[in-house]
Amino acid sequence: MSVSDVTLRSELGRIASLQSFGTVDGPGIRYVVFMQGCPLRCACCHNPETWSFDGGEEKTAGEVFDTLLRYRSYFGREGGVTVSGGEPLMQAAFVRALFALCRDEGIHTCLDTSGCSLNAQIEELLDVTDLVLLDLKYASEAQYQRYVGCALSAPLAFLDRLEARGIPAWIRQVLIRGKNDSEQDLKQSAQLLDGRSNIQRIELLPFRRLCLEKYKNLGIDFPFAEIDDTTEEEIARAYTFFER
Ligand code: SF4
Repeated sequence: MSVSDVTLRSELGRIASLQSFGTVDGPGIRYVVFMQGCPLRCACCHNPETWSFDGGEEKTAGEVFDTLLRYRSYFGREGGVTVSGGEPLMQAAFVRALFALCRDEGIHTCLDTSGCSLNAQIEELLDVTDLVLLDLKYASEAQYQRYVGCALSAPLAFLDRLEARGIPAWIRQVLIRGKNDSEQDLKQSAQLLDGRSNIQRIELLPFRRLCLEKYKNLGIDFPFAEIDDTTEEEIARAYTFFER
């Protein structure tokens, strides 16, 4: 083992949970690492237990890598590892180390992020990232400020950077009735994405209230508790605005 491998393996991260056979977070079958800690407070968040930077369990990149290697035969040609959260950009050094180890073994690396931050350490993480799942939550500044807690310019700058670097992106948006699904909202979203050469796919996901119990247990109000689940018809209608 080289000195750089030893350094990569010893990088520490706080992990919320691990999932062995993920099928919805990137292509193929994936090992999914959910990082602990998020600086945002999305009103639609279904993982409020990942917000705290003190929770989760500390593990080294080497430990996580050794575990995911056991599932390698299931990845096939398409699958690999996805790091999600929480917000993985907050632990960029750890994710970079894990992805670098995976890259050395030819394992596909995918980052699921809100795109809320960009700095030198995150650029290094992008050096070893094959695909980014970028969660675009709303199309207006006012909604980003109110329901996410950052500026809309942050994910857009992140997307600009991915395009400039030629890193493929899948855009994901949770469709929330009355919040981001009006004709104007959807046209605006489509406009923000129009003409970007690195976008491979746009995924519209239904809003679900499954997380209600989690909020109750944590003693936190769920801001969207009164909003009904998104229907398949609503998703199908919304997709028509993104046809390219
Ligand atoms: S970025 Fe993700 S984890 Fe963080 S609050 Fe938003 S939905 Fe939740």
